Amino acid sequence: MKRYELNSRVLHDLKRRSSIGIVIYMILSFVIVYEEGYYFRNPSFSLSFLLMINGVCIIRCIHLLLFDSLEEFSERMNTVIFIATVLATAGAWGGSFAYFISNDNEYKAKMLVAICSAGLCSGGVVAFIPERRLSVIFNFMMLMPPAATLLYRGTDRGLAFMLLLYSIYLVLLTLRGCREYWDALENEAKLKERTVELKRISHTDPLTHLYNRRYFSEIFEFEWKRASRDKTSLTLIICDIDYFKDVNDTHGHIAGDEYLISLGRVLRNKFKRDTDIVARYGGEEFVILLSGLDDTDALQMTESLRRQVSDHKVLFDGATLRTTMSFGVASCSPDAQGTPDLLLARADRALYRAKEKGRNRVEIDDPVLIGD
Ligand code: GH3
Ligand code: MG
Ligand code: MG
Repeated sequence: MKRYELNSRVLHDLKRRSSIGIVIYMILSFVIVYEEGYYFRNPSFSLSFLLMINGVCIIRCIHLLLFDSLEEFSERMNTVIFIATVLATAGAWGGSFAYFISNDNEYKAKMLVAICSAGLCSGGVVAFIPERRLSVIFNFMMLMPPAATLLYRGTDRGLAFMLLLYSIYLVLLTLRGCREYWDALENEAKLKERTVELKRISHTDPLTHLYNRRYFSEIFEFEWKRASRDKTSLTLIICDIDYFKDVNDTHGHIAGDEYLISLGRVLRNKFKRDTDIVARYGGEEFVILLSGLDDTDALQMTESLRRQVSDHKVLFDGATLRTTMSFGVASCSPDAQGTPDLLLARADRALYRAKEKGRNRVEIDDPVLIGD
């Protein structure tokens, strides 16, 4: 996110921060003209003041109601309308403020408008802090017309200087607030990035970069429910390196680690569909979860993987590391009776049989209904 750029997120913040203020303009416009009977002494100006302020405010309310749909249609147009209506409010109020203040006989109305304007201006400035140019222009449009009028007329110079000083103070407040807003936004983005990264790390096995066992258990539950809903089959393959202890004993643990890393790549490249899940289940044991395969396809794929692993060689420190793997396969159509643990137990049973029958082979558990 580019600092100080008016993007959709910032525009939504501006909308949220400024929406309450619109109602206040409408209420105060009535308070000013009805208080002390100003309306009856100056009906034509009062009417145009009320129409101007309330007209713009009603347009702003309608725009806020249509904000999301308009944003989908054209983000740029949405932004332009937002800024134009905000500035129209400031222009209408600032111009009227100048008129009120030039009314020498209306001391009470002048004071009332001055107090209301100061409040509305500071509220608006704070609301528009995320977009500092808008905040500053808004401030000037509210306060400069009356200050200029007073200076031009040569009356109430004290009030004019107070308005100028107040306007400068609000500009400083805007610059500081804007910096703080963008710092907070950047921190929020950094925190989001870190959270995603931490989540990824907590899901990943540090050696092979495959999913780890904890995440596999989570995903297995999720896939089980999905397969149950979609009425598709799930196939679970558990595979274990044969005599891996010998590799470590002969070539050392670092060589063993290199072999595991390389085997992780082989597994990942073999099962590439979005729905294929490959995880390191334990030391030299891996699990593969596949959906929508029938038993013949599942067996064929596992057999092809078995051959690929037995042909796979890893060169390490002048030595060639080569092993085989044993595979246990089980599949089912998840239903309300079965559980992921039962499918796991069946695949494990098949793996045990593969080891017993001499290793480097694939065994499938009887395709019986889970729950029996
Ligand atoms: P089997 O065919 O019966 O599975 O024999 P095996 O030697 O593979 O099985 P065993 O359970 O006796 O030994 C597993 C070996 O896997 C022992 C352990 O040191 C090794 N191992 C487990 N995790 C790692 C690891 O992260 N790095 C390395 N280098 N070796 C590991
Ligand atoms: Mg083993
Ligand atoms: Mg093992």
